[in-house]
Amino acid sequence: LFDDDPLPWELAAEEDVECAEVVFNRPMEQAFSYLVPEAWRGKLRAGQRVRCPFGRGNRPLTGYCVGFSRPKNTGKLKSLLEVIDREPLLNQHMLDLTQWIGERYLCSWGQALNTIIPAGVKNYAGTRMRTYFSIDEEALARVGETNLPTKQAAVIAALRAAKEPLQSKEIEQSADCGSGPVNGLKNKGILRVTRRRAATSPPSTDAVEREQDLTLNPEQLTALEKILQPLRSQKHETLLLHGVTGSGKTEVYIQAIREVVSYGRQAIVLVPEISLTPQTIRRFESRFDSVAVLHSHLTDAERHRQWKLISSGNVQVVVGARSAVFAPTTHLGLIVIDEEHETTFKQETTPRYHAREVARQRAKMAGIPLILGSATPTLESYARARRGIDQLITLKKRVSDLPLPPVSAVDVRNDPRCVSGSGIGRAIQTAIRAAVEDGGQVILFLNVRGHSPVLWCKACGEGIKCPNCDITLTWHKDRHLAMCHTCEFAIDPPKTCPRCGHAAVRYFGIGTQRLEEEVAAKFPRYKCLRMDSDTMRKRGSYETALDAFRKGEVQILLGTQMIAKGLDFPNVTLVGVIDADTILHQPDIRAAERTFQLIAQVAGRAGRSSKGGRVLVQTSSPDEPAIQFATAHDYVGFVHAEIQHRREMQAPPFWHLARVILRGLIDDEVVEFSNSMATVLRKAAEESDLPVRLLGPAPAPIMKLNKFYRHHFQLAAEQAETIQKLWRSVATKLPKSSNVEYVVDVDPLNM
Ligand code: ADP
Ligand code: ZN
Repeated sequence: LFDDDPLPWELAAEEDVECAEVVFNRPMEQAFSYLVPEAWRGKLRAGQRVRCPFGRGNRPLTGYCVGFSRPKNTGKLKSLLEVIDREPLLNQHMLDLTQWIGERYLCSWGQALNTIIPAGVKNYAGTRMRTYFSIDEEALARVGETNLPTKQAAVIAALRAAKEPLQSKEIEQSADCGSGPVNGLKNKGILRVTRRRAATSPPSTDAVEREQDLTLNPEQLTALEKILQPLRSQKHETLLLHGVTGSGKTEVYIQAIREVVSYGRQAIVLVPEISLTPQTIRRFESRFDSVAVLHSHLTDAERHRQWKLISSGNVQVVVGARSAVFAPTTHLGLIVIDEEHETTFKQETTPRYHAREVARQRAKMAGIPLILGSATPTLESYARARRGIDQLITLKKRVSDLPLPPVSAVDVRNDPRCVSGSGIGRAIQTAIRAAVEDGGQVILFLNVRGHSPVLWCKACGEGIKCPNCDITLTWHKDRHLAMCHTCEFAIDPPKTCPRCGHAAVRYFGIGTQRLEEEVAAKFPRYKCLRMDSDTMRKRGSYETALDAFRKGEVQILLGTQMIAKGLDFPNVTLVGVIDADTILHQPDIRAAERTFQLIAQVAGRAGRSSKGGRVLVQTSSPDEPAIQFATAHDYVGFVHAEIQHRREMQAPPFWHLARVILRGLIDDEVVEFSNSMATVLRKAAEESDLPVRLLGPAPAPIMKLNKFYRHHFQLAAEQAETIQKLWRSVATKLPKSSNVEYVVDVDPLNM
């Protein structure tokens, strides 16, 4: 749809061009024209940031120059105030892509631009002077490093690790502290201060031992051949590589990238943030000369450095999480998305893009192939492949010829232990004992963090809720707090019920903390490690924990999502899913799909060596298709059943959705505003004859969040473009409110 739409203005900044077209990081659609002062004519280029007088008060506002024009009447136009960047922050290709994002995700071009350019790049690209801190070793020696308070010591450690002066922000990021410790050290004279323009130094590279490519097995070879065809003819095609865990998908990507590199082109490999382990990174670094890694823990300086390196064309492979889809490669040859079913590829703030769809568009614009890989592809991707739009490639066997581990559902409805609130039922307990006594290791998966996820009052029967959110509080025993998992709210666990006043508060349900206690009590001779977002706060703690498990110092690893994916530990002979029902019963169209994916992924952690392994899944719904198909390792069977259901429900992948979420501090105002907005859209749909259904408005599933009341409605159509057209047609006519804000979530993944 958007491929061939020419821009309404010229792209080149010619000497005689008078006007720059500027977009802003605000939720409005259009570009604004500004006069280019004489001195910058012919120099300003699209992709540079500019300061412009904006609005009635002519407040200076930063915007992005996206092109140039020669309007007939320039009399009323204002002039640019300043050019911020020395060079364009992105090329024409990326400008086109961000414009597409604005159209596809119903936000403005400026909002899209603002997201894809990392903060670090914006900070460094400007010409302003910056303050840098470095260690005055002599002053430090006088005070004695060991005498410093913990936070200040962390600052010193961060600077040591960086091996170069850093800005305060960067220090705070990597030392995980506020500005206090930096100022404290500065005042003691331990930190030296210099002011200069931001510059980048070359990255310090640790030499990684080079490894040879493996000899592919016949299945892998066939897959590679199919990928090489569009690569060689340099045409766009999406290939869905559906291969069970351990079938050698990554090795196929690597050898496809080998071909790309031989053409002097670059590849982008997207992986879920959680898989950006040293293990994964090393795998690429040992095969290619220059690999850039983009993960969310990079400091601004590190990110800027990687960005510069990539845009200089000196990187062969970019490996990164979601936002790496915007890596500024110069000659992109291939994009790979590993574990394409992962929800972290969707951004949950505006623009709420999905990296898979952006990658598809980028690959299409560049005329290059896109590979999607997964053991459990999303229904969206699988349906496209089945319809022949994308090419389906299947890897049926594990490389090692080891079978997938047997998975059994354990019905806990009649297990007295589970009924009385224990997390570890009889069958899993016996299996854990057998596994550890045999020298094996165990992974226990539970999707709930905290100690007890439900605080409730036995007297009035009500859950004790967060005052800001419509959510019950979770007890965190280790911190002696009752906490809300969506806002910052935390209190001493109440002894009496805030509603009825009775001293009858009880804890209910099992979180990872309580499971850890239970494991420790039942298996005191073995070491257990918990991994969830509470224990893994510090930088590097994830790696340390996995290292301990790999070395066998820990026998039982328990945790949330964090341990479900990608880990490859040959000694794991048992995987236990403590509660398969937590996701299954969520009010979400993808609940069954997620449950299936989760069991399949978790199961992939077991039986990775000749020692074998098994998987036990505790559930109260053993007859649910998602659980039955998952225990049978039957992806295709599951898809056939589920797709039928989706068709009947008029849900994705057959229908496209856009969800509008509205929130405000006064419930009635939100209701009223939702209704008037929905009315405008309904009317526009009728008048324009666009086949869009509008569902709602209704209270959002979490009706109160962070003090805000929330309502939502959905637009549904068989073509994504239909929704875009409708939205565009009413964009300027939508009601406005100063008390109610709204966001639009296109292809929402969370209900
Ligand atoms: P997937 O990405 O499908 O889970 P991997 O690519 O991680 O699978 O492969 C699983 C394991 O098999 C890895 O340890 C990998 O090094 C190994 N492997 C992959 N392909 C081959 C091959 N052709 N020959 C030998 N070992 C292989
Ligand atoms: Zn809350």
